[in-house]
Amino acid sequence: MHPIAFDNSYARLPPRFYATVAPTIVAAPRLIRVNAPLAGELGLDPGWLEGPEGVAMLSGNSVPAGAASIATAYAGHQFGGFSPQLGDGRAILLGELVDRHGRRRDLQLKGAGPTPFSRRGDGRAALGPVLREYIVSEAMAALGIPTTRALAAVLTGEVVRRETLLPGAILTRVASSHIRIGTFQFFAARGDVEALRLLADHVIARHYPDCAGDGRYLALFEAVIAAQAALVAQWMTIGFIHGVMNTDNMSIAGETIDYGPCAFMDVYHPTTVFSSIDERGRYAFGNQPPIARWNLARFAETLLPLLAEDADEAVSIAQEALGRFDPQFQAHLIAGFRRKLGLAIEEAEDVELIKALLETMQRGEADFTLVFRRLSEAAGQADGAEACRSLFTDPAEFDAWEGRWRQRLLREPAPAETRRKAMLRANPLFIPRNHLVEAAIEAAVERDDLGPFETLLGVLANPFEDQPGREDHARPPAAHERVLATFCG
Ligand code: AMP
Ligand code: MG
Ligand code: MG
Repeated sequence: MHPIAFDNSYARLPPRFYATVAPTIVAAPRLIRVNAPLAGELGLDPGWLEGPEGVAMLSGNSVPAGAASIATAYAGHQFGGFSPQLGDGRAILLGELVDRHGRRRDLQLKGAGPTPFSRRGDGRAALGPVLREYIVSEAMAALGIPTTRALAAVLTGEVVRRETLLPGAILTRVASSHIRIGTFQFFAARGDVEALRLLADHVIARHYPDCAGDGRYLALFEAVIAAQAALVAQWMTIGFIHGVMNTDNMSIAGETIDYGPCAFMDVYHPTTVFSSIDERGRYAFGNQPPIARWNLARFAETLLPLLAEDADEAVSIAQEALGRFDPQFQAHLIAGFRRKLGLAIEEAEDVELIKALLETMQRGEADFTLVFRRLSEAAGQADGAEACRSLFTDPAEFDAWEGRWRQRLLREPAPAETRRKAMLRANPLFIPRNHLVEAAIEAAVERDDLGPFETLLGVLANPFEDQPGREDHARPPAAHERVLATFCG
């Protein structure tokens, strides 16, 4: 008997919220890996997951008793254009369980075969994007950023047709829920206010219990604004580019979701784009905060019938709440950069100091991650950020900024060594750099070699710790290693 105590609250919502569908049987499932610590957190036995019954479930070849096995309905704005029906086209929600900490978590198979929402897609995932999501989502978790997780990856033993024939794979994704802004849009587009109310109440009970009671729909909107402001600020302090911030890829629970063409910046520049389909740079690094606000405005539109009887009144309530996104985001962003620069006390001029560093990095084509890491190391000494200044094409400009920073540090109460340690905890050495992710994928896809994937996962599990012998995983790409574009799966 399988060990999973499913409790499927989403499947208890009315049938128009989803389609019941079984995963498609695959030819020859082969386990790539199980995330043992995450399994433990979920109260699942990694040994069982790695065994024949576990692999049968993770490949979709057997649906465990008690599973819901549904594809959820959602809509969404993709690159600004609205699609009234998207839905899980290649993902099947096995169900929910309550983890060791009492948190409800979704178990979803991504790439498990066609569903009624597949449109022209094949319902499948290729190995490369599965490994990419595994690596980057787990790296985000280790960096302390809210995210969906990767519980397991399996090969299907079948090929999927993209531009070429590629090995097929399935990712088991874990999320607080898979409810998106697009889920609300699905019902709003149909004028289904009853469903909107049920969905909002479900989300409040599940994610934002403090919002319950009178005025709960406005409280829900405010809670989602707060969660997204905090999330996107974290992305901006770590150099993460989501790449496809469509409203169907924006989680109501405030987790990073849908690792398609995402990437971490090497050299700092706010216009950085990697996604091959983002031709106009809509989802460029520096555009992420206004895009998040734009998406939240689309969320607000779905909530209007719940916010007030009178339509004009509902609009003004929503607008007022939405106006709080920018200040909240800015506060998180500044707090994040203060931590990165070792500034424990708050001074008004800090904002200028942060801005000046970013501009110096941009002009000096400096590596975003290494600048902060090397500043952390230099923070223990009175001066001499030699390793940091060498990252800039114009070290003199950095020197001028460093002088300002040193002056500012004189007003900090903590001893230099305390500051150095705090900064090393705020500034990772290891991020999933594109060239490393691509090399790990290439080894797996071209040579069936999972070694680089395993090594990379191991390094990224402790992003803030120096790891002797792994210096190669910390450096930026050489010119010939630079990845210019990333692709959706
Ligand atoms: P995404 O760009 O990953 O957010 O996906 C947008 C929509 O396309 C979602 O509804 C997905 O379920 C669907 N989709 C993406 N890839 C496939 C595929 N291979 N087969 C079926 N549906 C897909
Ligand atoms: Mg998506
Ligand atoms: Mg995707």
